[in-house]
Amino acid sequence: MARKIVVLGEVRDGALRNVSFEAVAAAKAAAEGGEVVGILIGDSVHALGADLIHYGADRVVTVESDKLNQYTSDGYSQALMAVIDAEKPEGLVFGHTSLGKDLAPKIAAKLDSGLISDVTSLEQAGGNLVFTRPIYSGKAFEKKIVTDGLIFATIRPNNISPLDKDETRTGEVSSLSVDVKDLRTIIKEVVRKATEGVDLSEAKVVIAGGRGVKSEEGFEPLKELATLLNGAVGASRGACDADYCDYSLQIGQTGKVVTPDLYIACGISGAIQHLAGMSNSKVIVAINKDPEANIFKVADYGIVGDLFEVVPMLTEEFKKIVV
Ligand code: FAD
Repeated sequence: MARKIVVLGEVRDGALRNVSFEAVAAAKAAAEGGEVVGILIGDSVHALGADLIHYGADRVVTVESDKLNQYTSDGYSQALMAVIDAEKPEGLVFGHTSLGKDLAPKIAAKLDSGLISDVTSLEQAGGNLVFTRPIYSGKAFEKKIVTDGLIFATIRPNNISPLDKDETRTGEVSSLSVDVKDLRTIIKEVVRKATEGVDLSEAKVVIAGGRGVKSEEGFEPLKELATLLNGAVGASRGACDADYCDYSLQIGQTGKVVTPDLYIACGISGAIQHLAGMSNSKVIVAINKDPEANIFKVADYGIVGDLFEVVPMLTEEFKKIVV
């Protein structure tokens, strides 16, 4: 059944996050031949509309206001509800990011709609659109269909491939004027953690360190390998608790959930709470001195050894093939 699906593009540092293009691909599948309308909210986002179209959106609606220069749930929900009111979509797709996790339930409640969160794939089966999402910290997957009302999903970054970029695709980028008012949250200042390089939740390669890294300096070889592979550095809670790195790097049940193409766990024992955040990575390599370490149970490749010997060796080998 062809339907109109709106998809929220997420802007960070003046560019669209990759999850926005993945959301367009999901929206395209959910639209089943219908229209995909991108939504961009911010103070200066019009120029990014073409990008969403190149990745598959049919047209884009922007809501621009200086009151929307930073994300606030009340500001964005006012903007979004105005677009939804104008477009009357049959479905919505957001990224399952900090922003999506905050905004989607609020919008779903306003629309009196259900929400399928953290979707990792969607497909056609038996005439239904079937959404798959992990449950029990990634130990099982459930499949959901929508029998009535809006299709509303948030999609986990790095799971649904974006469509190929086609710069010849064209479409309308229109703006909707919304009187954003009575904001209960005013952002005075944004203090960023000093995270360098690639965004951990969207990284295709993650090099993660655990308590076995032993110190803040112990992360240096991991950073070198991550930089070489254009990846991000992550950590176990053990490493964060020991003050070897910032909690923003924590992966797991109470940290970030990542699904990179390659996850290299260095000196991480593989506690169940850590596995909850990384076990769906496509290829897992574990480096640990202890051959009995639990992490080897989920690893595709296991290296029993001292990470301070193995990681530099890997870096040297990768240098030979990474140009
Ligand atoms: P350890 O368990 O101490 O493991 C260190 C490993 O390093 C060992 O396997 C050792 O053999 C190896 N090692 C040591 N030296 C070397 C070396 N030189 N070379 C190679 N290997 C070496 N944890 C998370 O990670 N994320 C979470 O989100 C999370 N949430 C939690 C929520 C709750 C409610 C609770 C109770 C716990 C949570 N934890 C979480 C903590 C979790 O249970 C573990 O304590 C933690 O993951 C252990 O971290 P680790 O593997 O780095 O440390």
